[in-house]
Amino acid sequence: MPPERILILGGTGDALGLAQPLINAGFHPVTSLAGVTVSPHLPAGEVRRGGFGGEAGLAQYIGSENIRAIIDATHPFAAQISRHAHGAAQATGIPYLRLERPPWLAEAADRWIEVANILKAVAALPGGARPFVTIGRKEIAPFFARTDLEGVARMIEAPGVSVPAGWTVIQARPPFQVESEIQLLDTYRVTHVVSKNSGGELTRAKLFAARERNVPVVMVARPHKPRATLFATVEALIPALGRMLSP
Ligand code: NAP
Repeated sequence: MPPERILILGGTGDALGLAQPLINAGFHPVTSLAGVTVSPHLPAGEVRRGGFGGEAGLAQYIGSENIRAIIDATHPFAAQISRHAHGAAQATGIPYLRLERPPWLAEAADRWIEVANILKAVAALPGGARPFVTIGRKEIAPFFARTDLEGVARMIEAPGVSVPAGWTVIQARPPFQVESEIQLLDTYRVTHVVSKNSGGELTRAKLFAARERNVPVVMVARPHKPRATLFATVEALIPALGRMLSP
């Protein structure tokens, strides 16, 4: 019997670490990337790129590629693809599992301003603030549109919009270290850190740095994703997948 084909919805560091253990466990993973990053890090095994054409397109792909289960390892803020994947899995009768790191939690010494979405994060910044914005390139425009702000925006690839005077764009890929994050806060005289509540260790250092420098963090809460069987680790997910697929 050929190995069962498992679709991994990727685009995260967690997804990268999923393919090899699945291969080791006797599966055939196909990692799907949205295709937004020009030179992404690639996982082991088969990789495909680009959207499926909505929920119906994904359901068709599942059928034509003989996919036996979907593992959604997308970013906690990628809500649409998770909705489509959940719907397509239900329509085709295959299991939908999600690998999802728990959100970060504020500790006593933290000064978090929790907001529901990016626009509320923009609005939470007082005039004259010097924010360090770490929410990626796609949603940076409303921060740049605030003419009363100057700051630093960090992203993996260049923004699609022009960078206003007074702003610095740093292109860098996680992981980040606490010492260099503290240095960044000091160098740019940062008054606020702006972050999505992504969770995980790779980008957590900015929160330790903010605590160290007593800088408030504008923290954007996660969007709603469909109810699903959630796994925080690959080690927990793989045996559960095996049980779901065993006859
Ligand atoms: P999204 O809003 O949930 O999805 C938008 C559309 O992009 C989907 O409808 C789908 O197109 C396509 N898509 C998304 N992920 C895909 C995947 N893994 N494989 C194939 N198609 C995919 O997603 P997003 O927030 O734009 O994020 C895009 C990708 O970047 C995701 O893979 C995510 O894991 C990664 N990422 C996102 C963030 C973030 O903050 N949002 C941060 C880091 C990484 P069709 O409808 O045509 O199928």
